[in-house]
Amino acid sequence: MLGRMQDWPLTVDRILDHAKAWHGDREIVSRSVEGPIVRTTYAEVHGRAKRISNALKALGIQQGDRVATLAWNTARHLEAWYGIMGIGAVCHTLNPRLFSEQLVYIINHAEDRVIFTDLTFLPVLAQIRDQIPTVKHFVVLTDEAHMTGELPGALAYETLIDTHSEDCVWGGFDENSPAGLCYTSGTTGNPKGVLYSHRSNFLHTLVTAGVDVMGLGAVETVLPVVPMFHANAWGIAFSAPAVGAKLVMPGPKLDGASVHELLESEKVTFSAAVPTVWQMLLTHLRQTGGKLSTLKRVVIGGSAVPEAIVRGFRDEFGVDVTHAWGMTETSPLGTLANPSAKVAEMDDETQLKFKLKQGRPPICIDLKLVNDEDQRLPHDGSTFGRLMVKGPFVVGQYFKGDGGEILDTEGFFDTGDVATVDEYGYMQITDRSKDVIKSGGEWISSIEIENIAAGHPKAELAAVIGVAHPKWDERPLLLVKLRPGEAGTKEEFLKFLEGKIAKWWTPDDVVFVDDIPLGATGKIDKKLIRQRMADYVLP
Ligand code: ADP
Repeated sequence: MLGRMQDWPLTVDRILDHAKAWHGDREIVSRSVEGPIVRTTYAEVHGRAKRISNALKALGIQQGDRVATLAWNTARHLEAWYGIMGIGAVCHTLNPRLFSEQLVYIINHAEDRVIFTDLTFLPVLAQIRDQIPTVKHFVVLTDEAHMTGELPGALAYETLIDTHSEDCVWGGFDENSPAGLCYTSGTTGNPKGVLYSHRSNFLHTLVTAGVDVMGLGAVETVLPVVPMFHANAWGIAFSAPAVGAKLVMPGPKLDGASVHELLESEKVTFSAAVPTVWQMLLTHLRQTGGKLSTLKRVVIGGSAVPEAIVRGFRDEFGVDVTHAWGMTETSPLGTLANPSAKVAEMDDETQLKFKLKQGRPPICIDLKLVNDEDQRLPHDGSTFGRLMVKGPFVVGQYFKGDGGEILDTEGFFDTGDVATVDEYGYMQITDRSKDVIKSGGEWISSIEIENIAAGHPKAELAAVIGVAHPKWDERPLLLVKLRPGEAGTKEEFLKFLEGKIAKWWTPDDVVFVDDIPLGATGKIDKKLIRQRMADYVLP
């Protein structure tokens, strides 16, 4: 016997249908790539997205075909998204920060048929177009007047809008059909594609709007600084229209002054971005004496949020920070550090310790910690193990089966992170599993040591890697980039760590370097550091 409720496939086109029907006049404000601020509404975006659907059909796009976007957060990008997904094609978001060889690999692997692009990226596409034969059409997200001719044969977006009607039926396919495709950054091997379904995106939308997650509602004004190519702007491109929030799209300008201008002029109440963006904003505010008069909450994730950012927002600007963890493979929200009932009763300083953890799983995310023998580990806040996740918006298999079987016997996906979970259910990342240092069968967190070392007044950046050791397998090596004009000694850095970490975690050596390389998403590139230190032997 089955339940007797209506059959209503959870497809994401319904999100924009709902926004049009019930929040049709709610604004979407974009800083356009051409420069000016552009205003539109959910009703207008809905109509224009349908025109794009018809344009795609005219270009021969069918259900399941991949259509890519290489674009900043703007209303046009949003229209293209829904126009693609509404007819069952797959929206493949390309990350412009990748090297061009990686873009070529990803576009060919996805077999993209059409690419929607901003003016910004025409030079990159012109350079690689000979190497991406599956792409038959380029659509530039602009009007005829701004077309540059850099990409001969490219179509102007506004011309497509003008020449097609908005008479188009969306949906009508299985909710498990693919909706979006996003590749992991590929720090190990080739990038792998995560193929989101309509159902997984829809469920992620319902979960993330919840109070203990992003807490979005119709009265909010939301500014996703996090790009739509970074795991669906953490779902905001779906959740904001789903609840009828006003959307403010920052376009290509993500510096402190530009973000601040929009936060104030559009009366933004909620925003989301990686730590470096907020660091730039706070620096700008301090230099200019700027205020945040309407902003109430920010979600910060992608890498660990430093305490100084949480305090800065709270004490200087009255803004509450929610630390979040996730990955492309989890759609992306996995955990958020909103207070549990017990933590909410604690004083502010104690609560801050929990705010700095990566947080608790919402409904639809299950997690566990395991050791190298795949045995479950206790949630005691100190035992750390491999973080495994499971749920309806967690990856089950990579696109085209790359990487083979990726779930364990209980159906959990290995995140590649190493973490603890405390008695209140808060998860804390202690390392990436490929970076954790295995010394005499025990694990040392490279991140914990480098975070402390980076707090030394002479240090600009610090990194810790494991190096081979004849007796212990691996021992930690600390690399320090000093602030300009500073001189430092091994002894003073080891002394600085004393008492702050377990004695056996003390690095075997300290090396001063001119450069600590950062990867495409601003994280320390340990793969490159290991390559550079390949010939190093411990003293
Ligand atoms: P990104 O583009 O942000 O690197 P990925 O999916 O490639 O997205 O990376 C996900 C990884 O980023 C996680 O597995 C984790 O290692 C790291 N990460 C994400 N959020 C946090 C966080 N709040 N604290 C620490 N690490 C994080």
